[in-house]
Amino acid sequence: MRPLADRSTERDLDCVGMDARIDSLLPLWQATAAPLPENAAIHGEHRALFDASPIDTIVIGAGVTGLSTALHLAEHGAQVIVLEKDQPGAGTSGRPNGQVIAGLHESPEALLAAYGADRGERMIQFSGKAPDLLFDLIARHGIACDAERAGWIQATRSRRQMKALAKLTRSWADRGAPVRLLDRDEVTRLLGTQAYAGGWLDQRNGTIQPLAYVRGLAAAATRAGAKIHCGIEVERLERAGQNWRIETTQGNLHASTVVLATNVFTSELHGVARRLLGRSYLAGSSVQVATAPLNDEQRAQFRKRYLQERRRLEEQIVHDEQEKRPRPVKRRATSCGAGSRSTGTASCVPRR
Ligand SMILES: Cc1cc2nc3c(=O)[nH]c(=O)nc-3n(C[C@H](O)[C@H](O)[C@H](O)COP(=O)(O)OP(=O)(O)OC[C@H]3O[C@@H](n4cnc5c(N)ncnc54)[C@H](O)[C@@H]3O)c2cc1C
Repeated sequence: MRPLADRSTERDLDCVGMDARIDSLLPLWQATAAPLPENAAIHGEHRALFDASPIDTIVIGAGVTGLSTALHLAEHGAQVIVLEKDQPGAGTSGRPNGQVIAGLHESPEALLAAYGADRGERMIQFSGKAPDLLFDLIARHGIACDAERAGWIQATRSRRQMKALAKLTRSWADRGAPVRLLDRDEVTRLLGTQAYAGGWLDQRNGTIQPLAYVRGLAAAATRAGAKIHCGIEVERLERAGQNWRIETTQGNLHASTVVLATNVFTSELHGVARRLLGRSYLAGSSVQVATAPLNDEQRAQFRKRYLQERRRLEEQIVHDEQEKRPRPVKRRATSCGAGSRSTGTASCVPRR
């Protein structure tokens, strides 16, 4: 991933026939987030850090995982240092959709089946309350990040899928969550489109401006006593007696506890981190597009281009897979199908 600061370019936007020239393709979140407060992170002056080693707790990575950990530990009186190779929010946390959604990808029933009654139920409770935790942090620390808790709808075009959604809704409702099933009329009224057969509404959920949230978390962690050092890349992590030795681009540090919050970049580390965790993340690509609100004609053109582009991508994927497939030694009569394969999608996020 290129650093955030390098991503601004100048271009004409003619892909959907819009009479629009945009001056910059600066990502939306960067264009609209307030800057990181100056005293929230330390850049370039790291001598005091190396003098203070060994340290109680070092958190590697200043995304939402690292910063929330640092904030909570500092609030409990721990000495916490965050090491960040770039700047807070430079990883995934500064560029997601900004949706705050309760639960995990799997349904509560699937979690119980996979992890058993005790651990499964704890995972359900933890993930079900995640939006409460996030919106509470925002309120408690006064983080200005366009937070809205307006609920979230998962809609479906398939009438058969409604059965599964009804089961999911019942499962969360039985646990006291503010959720309800939506029939075709209600989903049409709420979404303003007749495209869907129904859906479910989960009022625990909402949206945030994710980069503004990360920067607010960084400021809150610093106020609580954590120190965030930017521009220090950790290269290797090894055990050193009772402590950990953390080899960085600026020198070595020692800490009794290390929290790895390096997300998909974990596989780039050497030593213990890579051996134990380096292969637990999958890298994926995703494209998101934000535009000014589109009129009907622009939307129709966009949809046409989008479908063409999706078909082209699907054909490309099938072609690439066929190229990779080893040739059969003997010729056989075979039937060949593309199967189901998901492709990247572009979500269009007009801002009000
Ligand atoms: C396209 C997309 C959309 C998404 N949309 C949503 C959404 O709507 N809602 C949602 O809840 N989730 C969403 N997600 C998932 C969410 O963004 C991530 O789960 C979350 O941001 C992960 O945060 P993190 O702190 O664990 O990792 P990251 O934000 O990636 O942070 C890791 C940090 O570690 C630093 N780092 C890495 N290696 C080193 C090193 N060796 N030394 C020092 N620093 C290092 C990086 O620079 C980075 O700042 C989305 C993800 C993607 C890709």
